[in-house]
Amino acid sequence: MIQDNLRVIRQQLPAPIHLVCVSKFKENNAILEAYEAGERTFGESRVQELLAKVEALPSDINWHFIGHLQTNKVKFLVPFISLIHGVDSLRLLSEINVQAAKLNRRVNCLLQVHIAEEDTKFGFSSEELHNFLRSDQVGEFKNVCIQGLMGMATFTDNTDQVRREFKGLKALFDEIKANYGNQLSDFKEISMGMSDDYQLAIEEGSTMVRIGSKIFGQRIDS
Ligand SMILES: *Cc1c(COP(=O)(O)O)cnc(C)c1O
Repeated sequence: MIQDNLRVIRQQLPAPIHLVCVSKFKENNAILEAYEAGERTFGESRVQELLAKVEALPSDINWHFIGHLQTNKVKFLVPFISLIHGVDSLRLLSEINVQAAKLNRRVNCLLQVHIAEEDTKFGFSSEELHNFLRSDQVGEFKNVCIQGLMGMATFTDNTDQVRREFKGLKALFDEIKANYGNQLSDFKEISMGMSDDYQLAIEEGSTMVRIGSKIFGQRIDS
C-alpha cells in the first residue's frame, strides 16, 4: 500500500523536488515500510513523538520538524534535526541559534511565512521578513542556516486561491534572494505543497513537498 502510494507520488515529482514523508501520528511499522521503499526524509510535528521515533527507528533517517515549535522544546531537537520548517518568530530563531551554539552545530531552518487567509496558521508577514533581513541581524545568527521559506495555503477547495498564495510565496522568495542573497548564501528551498495541493505547489515553484496522508493513508487526528 505505502510502497504503491510512494511509487505514484515519485512519478509525479520532477527530479529536483525533495519529498518529505510526513509521518506524524503514524506507527513505526508504517514508517519502516516507507524506509524500506527507499525514503530517508520524514517529517514530524510533535517533539515528544519525534523523540520516541528517533530512538526506535534507523539512525540514517533525516528528520524534519514541520510543526509549530515552542522555544522550550528547541533544545531537544537541536542535537539531531536535519531541518526545521516552521521557524515563525525571531524569538524562536534566536533560541535555535543559542542551543545550536552550545553544541557547536549549525541548524538548518526555513522561515515560515503566513500566506493563508486563516489566522490559525503561523508565520511571518512579508513585511516582518523584510524588516528582519534589512536590519542585518541575520549576521548575528551564526549557528542557524536559513535555507529558504515554508508556507501553508488556506484549507479550501478554491484552487485559484491556493495557487495565488503559492505564487505569493514564490515571489517573496525571489525578492528575498535578490535583495539579501549576499547574507543568505544557502537560501534555496521553498517548502510548499501537501497531499491535496502538491501538484499545484510544484507548478508554482515548490522545491520541497510535505506529504502525509497520500503516502500513509488518512490520518486520525484533531
Ligand atoms: C500534516 C502536515 C502535512 C501533511 O499533510 P497531508 O495533508 O497529510 O499531506 C504537511 N505539512 C504540515 C506543516 C503538516 O502539519
